[in-house]
Amino acid sequence: MARANAQYYAAHDPFQDFTTAPEVSQAFGEVLGAWAAVTWQAMGCPNPVILVELGPGRGTLIRDALRAIGRVAPAFRAALAVHLVETSTRLRAAQRQAAPDATWHDRLGDVPDGPLIVLANEFLDALPIRQFVRRGTGWAERWVVAGTFEERPAEGFSDARAPEAAEGNVLEVGDAAAGLCAELARRVRNSGGAALLIDYGPLRSAPGDSLQALRAARAADPLKDPGSADLTAHVDFQAVAHTATEAGAACYGPVPQGVFLVRLGLVQRAFTLARQLPPAKGAAVIEAARRLVEPTAMGSLFKVLAVCHPALPCPPGFEDP
Ligand code: SAH
Repeated sequence: MARANAQYYAAHDPFQDFTTAPEVSQAFGEVLGAWAAVTWQAMGCPNPVILVELGPGRGTLIRDALRAIGRVAPAFRAALAVHLVETSTRLRAAQRQAAPDATWHDRLGDVPDGPLIVLANEFLDALPIRQFVRRGTGWAERWVVAGTFEERPAEGFSDARAPEAAEGNVLEVGDAAAGLCAELARRVRNSGGAALLIDYGPLRSAPGDSLQALRAARAADPLKDPGSADLTAHVDFQAVAHTATEAGAACYGPVPQGVFLVRLGLVQRAFTLARQLPPAKGAAVIEAARRLVEPTAMGSLFKVLAVCHPALPCPPGFEDP
């Protein structure tokens, strides 16, 4: 999965195959920029401060966030240095148009030390997973051999998430996502700051096969032509939050994206934008905001998790109702 996605992102324009929240509405990046500004104030306004985005795609989110930050928090804009974590040279070129002053890295570990705020939308879902299948009283691991799944006994594998798994149940283990979140947790604990992770996945860990491939916005066979389609899996937010908490951070959420964005004022922002436009264009802006927050669209499948330094107050959008 890691190799297939590296090849896919290096050679394709992923936005031919799927669309993402920042591409749906500029209000998405703007409210995340405002979130970062409030978080920076809660951190005590460190100067300098590092603003990181993981997997920025076309750079739309960071461009919209920086524009909003410049407007609502010019002191934060002046204090921040943008660091983008991106492996695809093709996408880096697009990101350079959006954030010319950024510094690029292949991995989070290469971002310099210091107080930081991290944003990541649809990044964790692209990281590789392993799948285990319940067979008899034990588990087999799925390997991919010559284009098909092959099961091999996974001796010693057990999982507290599935004590009563039925024959044939699939369990996914996202070591890469958990490892990244542990690294984020250590960084915010040691240097101060917070990370905001937005992705799709269930609120609670559950067995199930969520590996999927998207080609031209349609589900495709994940094993066909590896590297030609985007491979994703649901993010196990409970597992990720557990890892981050163990590593010394305070976690908030996951909350559904719709709830989070409404609390952050995305709907009001969309109405403000719409009022400045001719009616048909204004209606499209409102419709885009609806798509991001409505439970039947992206509002409920997508979740938001914050990984924070333990001394920070509850970040905006995560307050108990
Ligand atoms: N956040 C963007 C793009 C999501 S697509 C948006 O919301 O529109 C996933 C992004 O993560 C792409 O930019 C891809 O090139 C990048 N990516 C995927 N795997 C990566 C990895 N292992 N390391 C760094 N970047 C990666």
